[in-house]
Amino acid sequence: MSTIRFNALKETLQRKPISITEQSVRRSELFNKKVLTLSTCRQYMPKEAYTAIKNATKHGTKIDRKIAEQIAAGMKAWAHDQGATHYTHWFQPLTGITAEKHDAFFEPIGDDLAIEKFGGSQLVQQEPDASSFPNGGLRNTFEARGYTAWDPTSPAFVMGSTLCIPTIFVSYTGEALDNKTPLLRALQSIDQSATAVAKYFDKNVTKTIATLGWEQEFFLIDTALASSRPDITMTGRTLLGHSPAKGQQLDDHYFGSIPRRAMGFFRELELECMQLGIPIKTRHNEVAPNQFEVAPLFEEANLAVDHNSLLMDVMEKVAMNHDFKVLFHEKPFAGINGSGKHNNWSLATNTGVNLLSPGKTPMSNLQFLTFFINTIMAVHNHADLLRASIASASNDHRLGANEAPPAIISVFIGNQLTQVLDDLEKVSKGKLTPEEKTDLKLNVVGKIPDVLLDNTDRNRTSPFAFTGNKFEFRAVGSTANCAVPMTVLNTIVSEQLRKFKIEVDKLIDAKSMKKDDAIFNVLRDYIKKSKSIRFEGDGYSDDWVKEAKKRGLSNMKTTPEALKAKVSKESVKLFEDHEVLTEAEVHARYDIELEEYTMKIQIEGRVLGDIATNHVIPTAIRYQNTLIENVSGLKSIFGTGFKKLAKEQMDIIADISTRINEIKTNVDAMIEERKKANKMTSEEKRAKAYCDKVKPYFEEIRYHCDKLEMTVDDELWPLTKYRELLFTK
Ligand code: ADP
Ligand code: MG
Repeated sequence: MSTIRFNALKETLQRKPISITEQSVRRSELFNKKVLTLSTCRQYMPKEAYTAIKNATKHGTKIDRKIAEQIAAGMKAWAHDQGATHYTHWFQPLTGITAEKHDAFFEPIGDDLAIEKFGGSQLVQQEPDASSFPNGGLRNTFEARGYTAWDPTSPAFVMGSTLCIPTIFVSYTGEALDNKTPLLRALQSIDQSATAVAKYFDKNVTKTIATLGWEQEFFLIDTALASSRPDITMTGRTLLGHSPAKGQQLDDHYFGSIPRRAMGFFRELELECMQLGIPIKTRHNEVAPNQFEVAPLFEEANLAVDHNSLLMDVMEKVAMNHDFKVLFHEKPFAGINGSGKHNNWSLATNTGVNLLSPGKTPMSNLQFLTFFINTIMAVHNHADLLRASIASASNDHRLGANEAPPAIISVFIGNQLTQVLDDLEKVSKGKLTPEEKTDLKLNVVGKIPDVLLDNTDRNRTSPFAFTGNKFEFRAVGSTANCAVPMTVLNTIVSEQLRKFKIEVDKLIDAKSMKKDDAIFNVLRDYIKKSKSIRFEGDGYSDDWVKEAKKRGLSNMKTTPEALKAKVSKESVKLFEDHEVLTEAEVHARYDIELEEYTMKIQIEGRVLGDIATNHVIPTAIRYQNTLIENVSGLKSIFGTGFKKLAKEQMDIIADISTRINEIKTNVDAMIEERKKANKMTSEEKRAKAYCDKVKPYFEEIRYHCDKLEMTVDDELWPLTKYRELLFTK
């Protein structure tokens, strides 16, 4: 066994679970301890400042400069009490992860003195000179002015010894350079559209928020084992490795008892999350060995997005304390389930109503149906854009790999709701007769609550499923920043609700229809029009691929193909209409995503080439030499009779040569394709070349390397094997 592999295994086997001393028995006492919540603001700030921050949070009102001074003073005092020495504007640039630049509160004032400084201007705006973040040409580096601006709707928190202030990141000229700005704009748009529609049912509705409850899947791999693999270290996934004899066939990990070392990690993670206000509620083992999931209670979407980004960050830090590396990659191991991040989504009003939850009265159910059907219609009309919102090099491995939803976007609603929609579709056009109305209300709409009590028939193969009182977007990748799919989902539903309102109002005005008649009429029309997006069957089956094609649904398997929908004329218009993104911002993002795709594949190609050439081939040759020595020894002992005795060895010798040759040829050809692609000047063409010309070599190279792993003496094999990565406890 190679020294690296041996040492890694030894280190792993010697580890002891780290027990975490609970600081408090009750998690609830820890909740929000490190967050500057509104009630904490009340303690640390004058009434005026507190009211300003409350109004900003609740109603999006602006905070004036003078008040910002008071808020900053309160924030500083609170942060000091938490032991903070530094502050940072915490933001989410287009790299998908979070960024921070720490500044000390400390400021020299001359005469050998220093003060602790943090005022309104430090709170409200910062120029982090973050000129190396991707900006898609929106901001030339020489005029490197990107500003972070405080987002009061997401509370400040203290992490370690740093006060973190959630911010948006925009260019000097106001273009969004981050993932949060468009999200906030989309949330504003859906607030307006959904509130206008909700008013049909309740005049008291003045605000609607989108809610998000994510579920985060991930793998935990021992740090020693993970760092023994160059591919995991550099790309977050294994680029080669033969499947172990035992994989996940026995399903013995799923919901099993959490291994002791992982339990220590979870304990500490939960304590951290509680204090940071991330309402983690569930933890469990996932399907694959060493795979887990955490999920919080749902929250307002902006906050939930921040919390997911924060969680991923905290997870990496906590994992280090327990000698684990967290793998967020969507497909770290071939042949083993990958990881996703389900986005549970709904809409809630200021009157405390979940608009996707059926109520007790026919009217509340008409409201439910309105939002339910409009969401389906939105997905139907913008399926390609929704697909584009979850496209990434790593998620390409998962979508369509028979474990995650397919790349075809469809909506699952369950048998009973299908029946309800079928019944509604039969309602006659125009004004409803009183009998029809009664029948409809009593027998169709009125029965929805009973129907939904039984919502166990979950379809795990659907990318977008209705699950009782929310939709669950399951195709989101585990590495994704939820802001991206949430921006798209909220924008398309907002657009749909706007259209709906116009159509209903028109019927009321022109045909003097009653409001519910008009609503029924438009909904019936939508049910018909959106039918092709609904699918209740097995999303993994080949039949569905064929059926979807017949229905005209797209099946975009790769990122370069899928991303195109982001820059289509309709998408640009949609984003502009809702003031979510300008045309320039849309194109900038498109270029950044293409470039990111290219770079990911490029890095993987380089790492794979290195491993194949520097690890696999030399090892195979060493083993082959041993065999050759053995064969010539047999020959010197047995003379011509050796051939019969050495047949197997000679076959293996020949096989090794063939495989080495295949590996070398394919690596060389891959490098050639990379060179060609690198010369292309169009971001679009280069990404496509990396996808269609470079990436296909990965499988070829891997195939032969994996065969050699099975052939070569285990003692010699340099790379930690799947069975060791996944089953060493
Ligand atoms: P599962 O999908 O694993 O069966 P649940 O149905 O219990 O689990 O819920 C999963 C997630 O859905 C949780 O993260 C929860 O916070 C979220 N969720 C529940 N209700 C809503 C809602 N109204 N809006 C958004 N997310 C929600
Ligand atoms: Mg779920």
